Amino acid sequence: MSMWTTARARHYSMALALRVGHPMLQLQLRLSSTGVAAECGGCHMYHDLYGFHLGVCRTGNRKGLWTSRHDAVQAALLAAIRYIGGSCLSVSVGSGNWFGAAGVRPGSTSYRRADLVLAHYYGPGRHLFLDVAVADPASGSALACSPSSAVSSGVAAQLRASKKAAKYEPLAQSVSSAFRPAVLERYGACCDDLVGLIRMLCGDRDRDQLEPDYAFSTCSRSTYMASRVVFACVLADAAMVDAALLLDCAVQDSDRSPPSAIPRAPAPPRSRPFPCQRGDRPSQPQRDVLGSGGRFFYEGHSS
Ligand SMILES: [Zn+2]
Repeated sequence: MSMWTTARARHYSMALALRVGHPMLQLQLRLSSTGVAAECGGCHMYHDLYGFHLGVCRTGNRKGLWTSRHDAVQAALLAAIRYIGGSCLSVSVGSGNWFGAAGVRPGSTSYRRADLVLAHYYGPGRHLFLDVAVADPASGSALACSPSSAVSSGVAAQLRASKKAAKYEPLAQSVSSAFRPAVLERYGACCDDLVGLIRMLCGDRDRDQLEPDYAFSTCSRSTYMASRVVFACVLADAAMVDAALLLDCAVQDSDRSPPSAIPRAPAPPRSRPFPCQRGDRPSQPQRDVLGSGGRFFYEGHSS
């Protein structure tokens, strides 16, 4: 197994709980211990038990929570395209203006930019631009759509993809290039354009069976690439939920004063450490199996 198919156990179980509709353990414990649901630190509404609110909260991007999730999916897509042999660049930050005069915002020094570009994909000077987004099927616009996201999968992704296409396609056409939205829902459904992109880049070939992370369930190149991107999205969403619940539950727990009737346990003495037996070795901090400085790829780069 490689770093791209490895997840923290906590995030994996949370991602599983989010997909099957199991209550979040932190929220359940808080409700059972205090009798009151945890409060969202952004909009001060009460959390539901299933983590739904964090996908549709109007201040959901507080502390960069949604940005971290987006960046993880973008990095995973970039790595997956490079892995299958494509040439891809991240152009969302500090890489100049790829859309020329059309990209300049009137009255501003900034310019519009996509997330990724497959430079010269269609020929010299003709690029393929990609923009990544993570949509939520529980958002009001997706639920109100026909068919509703409540009865059909991928509606929210398709809705966001059409908005992205309306924004970026004219910009890409102005520089003789093309654009494809790369939108996933937080539970893993992909928009049609992303499915088509994966098929276009991978073709119908199978993977080399001597690859270190070869598995029968992802034996074709397209299923392998799709599984990497969707795995990153689902795990990045679980990491986002974990970070948000850590913020909300931890802050509220520290605000709560302990009941005066219950005596607190005495603190252990700090000046004298516990005596070690002869031959004891100092404990080593636990090492990650495959991490990057203690952080996994889907946990984002911003703090
Ligand atoms: Zn909220």
